[in-house]
Amino acid sequence: MVLYSPGRTSSYPTDPVDSGIRIHFLGGGDEVGNVGCVLEDKTGTRILIDYGLAPTRPPRYPSECPPIDHAIITHSHIDHIGMAPWLVGHHGTRLHGTTLTAAVSEMMWRDTYKVSSIEGYPLPWDMRDLDAALGAWETHDMGEWFEIGAWRLRFHLAGHIPGAAMIEIETPELRLLWGGDMDTRQNPNVAGAKPVKCDILCIESTYGGREHPNRVEEEARLVARVKEVVSRGGLALIPAFASGRCQDILRILHTAVPHLEVHFDGMGTRVTKHWMNNSEHIHQPEGLEKVWRWARKVRSKSDRKKALDADVIVTTSGMLDGGPAIWYLNRLRHDSANAILLTGYQAEGSGGRSLLDNRRLPIFGNITPVDLEVSQFQLSNHAGHSELLSFVHACEPRHVVFFHGDTEAREAISAEFNQSPTPSLPLNGTSLNLK
Ligand SMILES: [Zn+2]
Repeated sequence: MVLYSPGRTSSYPTDPVDSGIRIHFLGGGDEVGNVGCVLEDKTGTRILIDYGLAPTRPPRYPSECPPIDHAIITHSHIDHIGMAPWLVGHHGTRLHGTTLTAAVSEMMWRDTYKVSSIEGYPLPWDMRDLDAALGAWETHDMGEWFEIGAWRLRFHLAGHIPGAAMIEIETPELRLLWGGDMDTRQNPNVAGAKPVKCDILCIESTYGGREHPNRVEEEARLVARVKEVVSRGGLALIPAFASGRCQDILRILHTAVPHLEVHFDGMGTRVTKHWMNNSEHIHQPEGLEKVWRWARKVRSKSDRKKALDADVIVTTSGMLDGGPAIWYLNRLRHDSANAILLTGYQAEGSGGRSLLDNRRLPIFGNITPVDLEVSQFQLSNHAGHSELLSFVHACEPRHVVFFHGDTEAREAISAEFNQSPTPSLPLNGTSLNLK
């Protein structure tokens, strides 16, 4: 647990940069999520990219950010934005992001605040900081240049989730591309990222060394499970992340099995409204509008009871750590015709992980056995090993920095490169200086 004392606990060096660019990871260097990285050059221009928290129990935070006027926020997942209210509250930082990232951030912050209050974990920021953060946004369209100090910057589509951006930075000396969380593959709601020529590429390595199954086949496997469960008289409960996965699942089901009765509950419903209000970030937005009209939104307790007679329920939380998914599971667990179809990564210590490994999980505080079909599907919106490899080559950088991955993943992708481009595997709390 880290509680910061502003200006005194930062690992950031105090000496000036003499040439090139200094890249200093406060978090997210040698780990997935929890991202915060300071970039600075000899002009004294300094920015932060992302400031997240890892929603583990207790949560983990990046180390303290030095005073900073501008932060780039790549997208609205909590491991990239969770600590931004602290930044604004303590340093008066301006937050730069897309309109959709700014719109979704508010509910993500409020939810984090609520969860930390319920679970009793101290959060280094309070509601005043949150209010200040809401007023700190400067939004930019994809491709629109803007200036910070001596640098020019612009966003590019990152894939991953709608509104997610890569950031291209032009300093007087070099061009850097920060990939953020990214995917080059088309997914149901957003098109894939395209390479950008640069001198230095900083890229995530979540799936270094691992290939995704074919996306079309994996979607077909999910649909086949849903059909089978419904045909035996059961209900398929699909826990899914609020920002990205819920909406992908709904689009897949709407295309493949439009005759089924699908109910949609949880925070994902509110995220979807923001998506529709910022539809320039959505792939074929009219398709999402249709899905929204088709899925039955759960808005009340009586809607929730009615949903128990549906064919499919899509809801949060994606890792069965709370949310309506737990309420439904508690009702559905007595009928073995029902099934739980997990659609994402299940972290160590999560309810979903416990269900997969031990066939039981905490339900309202009690460890409860669940004797239902449990299947898991790989529908990741991060680039896999081959996608990362092609993307790096196409950007033609001199240096490539692999961050946002565990050691094994970063070594696996880095092993693909020897001298050109030169790979770096940064550690949290240390600086790289690249020219
Ligand atoms: Zn993300």
